[in-house]
Amino acid sequence: MSTATFLGVHTGSFSTPAVGNPTVAMVEAAYRHHGLDARYLNCDVAPGSLGDAVAGARAMGWAGFNCSLPHKVAVIDHLDLLAESAEVIGAVNTVVATDGDLVGHNTDGQGFVESLRTVVDPTGLEVVVLGAGGAARAVAVETALAGAASVTVVNRNARRGEELARVVTAGTAVPATFVAWDRTYAVPDTTDVLVNATSVGFGDGDALVDVDLDSLGDGLVVADVVVSPPRTALLRAAAARGAVTLDGLGMLVGQGALAVRHWTGVEPDRDVMRAAVERALGV
Ligand code: NDP
Repeated sequence: MSTATFLGVHTGSFSTPAVGNPTVAMVEAAYRHHGLDARYLNCDVAPGSLGDAVAGARAMGWAGFNCSLPHKVAVIDHLDLLAESAEVIGAVNTVVATDGDLVGHNTDGQGFVESLRTVVDPTGLEVVVLGAGGAARAVAVETALAGAASVTVVNRNARRGEELARVVTAGTAVPATFVAWDRTYAVPDTTDVLVNATSVGFGDGDALVDVDLDSLGDGLVVADVVVSPPRTALLRAAAARGAVTLDGLGMLVGQGALAVRHWTGVEPDRDVMRAAVERALGV
């Protein structure tokens, strides 16, 4: 008698617009590489249909799914539980079916820290985060939880920036301060890591954040969360001044790899995932 089974692991992504999201290529490459009977469906889900989409995933027994813009906060209303990271950050990018519950996690910041650790251990470092949106929240909170000595949030919108500094200070043991970004920002020379977590540079390789480039010295680590194009103008300028640079693809691969591990129990090969996403983006 055949012992074949015909029910694979179902996963996917809910976002809109979904057409430019390369995650499917990266995750399915990992599934194929590890011989997993698993699928990942990239779904374009309008805000008004998010509840139905989550109910569908629940009804069909999906192992979990990613949420991307604009659903990372709204999805919380449709879940049963939140993991600590998602609770502190206040947003979910990965949902995992666990013992009958849908549990919201946030692997964005953990993916960033995994990528950061390839160049430096964040323990005891002074970190400056540019931006206070979803990516900045994840980066600031997880870098603090990973042991940074201090976090400085630099943002144009003071309400959002102050709120993020409050979230980091209240949710982690690390003091965070807010700096209003109302003029060219000079990176203090005590800074160890500068992270561009704004959307500046997305889709425009020449767009540059308003930072004093002469403050990007030797010994600084400069990271960007922007994925496309990955070699942003900030990273090019920082490398030219002797800084160590880290592109946003490392964070993208890291957060995706952590999601795959949640859904399948397999620790996926990051190099395979990075090669797949680079191919997908034409890097
Ligand atoms: P949000 O819209 O939530 O936040 C955008 C942030 O960028 C805000 O803080 C905004 O400031 C700031 N900003 C926008 N334009 C400027 C400007 N001209 N000067 C200074 N600040 C500016 O976006 P997300 O946080 O979701 O996404 C940000 C980036 O991170 C995107 O490029 C996204 O693709 C990327 N990303 C990468 C991931 C990865 O895995 N590598 C994961 C998730 C996101 P203000 O509040 O003042 O308006």
